[in-house]
Amino acid sequence: MTGEIRSHRVDPDAGNTVEGGGTRVYGNKFLSAAVRLGNIPHSRVILGIESIRHRSAKRDPHRDDEGTAFVKLARYVLGRAPGLRAITYDTALRGSHRAPLIADGLVVFTTQHGGLAPESLQRFENGPCHHDLYVAEGRVCKRLITDDGTTHYTPLPVEELERRESKRTRFYHRLTIPCRVKNHTLRIRVDGTPEDREIDPSTKRQRVNRTEHLRQIPPDTHAGRRLKGFRQDSESQHSRFDQSYPHKRVPAYGADAALLIYIGYAWLSNSVARAKITHALAA
Ligand SMILES: [Zn+2]
Repeated sequence: MTGEIRSHRVDPDAGNTVEGGGTRVYGNKFLSAAVRLGNIPHSRVILGIESIRHRSAKRDPHRDDEGTAFVKLARYVLGRAPGLRAITYDTALRGSHRAPLIADGLVVFTTQHGGLAPESLQRFENGPCHHDLYVAEGRVCKRLITDDGTTHYTPLPVEELERRESKRTRFYHRLTIPCRVKNHTLRIRVDGTPEDREIDPSTKRQRVNRTEHLRQIPPDTHAGRRLKGFRQDSESQHSRFDQSYPHKRVPAYGADAALLIYIGYAWLSNSVARAKITHALAA
């Protein structure tokens, strides 16, 4: 003991959070949105960044949780870049977050949240036929029960993702139900409807949480895998930011100071992208 009083600086905002991949990390949490050209390296332009809440609303009343902050940021970007068509994020985004962005006309892609049990959607009836339709793995399926009682959910082929413009954009899947009588085609809304939000008197629950279960682009499809690639790609931006500092630690105390450093990083990174793109377009 020396009797000397040492004061340790502690980041008042830091805490333990879980990253997209499930790793626990200590620090602050940030959200960023970026866009890049498909074929030019270092062309990523960071469009917006925000500091987000990783503790209870009571302990941190001034910041939004990840999903809320994402919706605000996406709408901010869309307001300034109306050509935006699709946006990719991770499983932190649930149906309730996707719904307002889908209504704004965006295709919102995230990998499907695990642990969602198949849900009954509707019964299709036509002449002598009836088919019970379920939602599983983000898409409409036909339920089949085999001789030994096992239940199978067979995905129905999506012929087209239709987009209909009105005040709020509607999206439909044009589907085929293969059938021995005759193949049926039907349209299913993949955005939330007012009827969905009605309370079912028998279950006392909302009838169906459509945007949670049904996905504009089902994850395990060619288009889904392509969009998933953009999400994986954003990790390179995060790791480049981490690696810019010794011990992968942003040299700041508090979320506001760290956000300021992130803004500086984005400014530099965007300047590099601007130089690269200008050079590539001139070539
Ligand atoms: Zn049929």
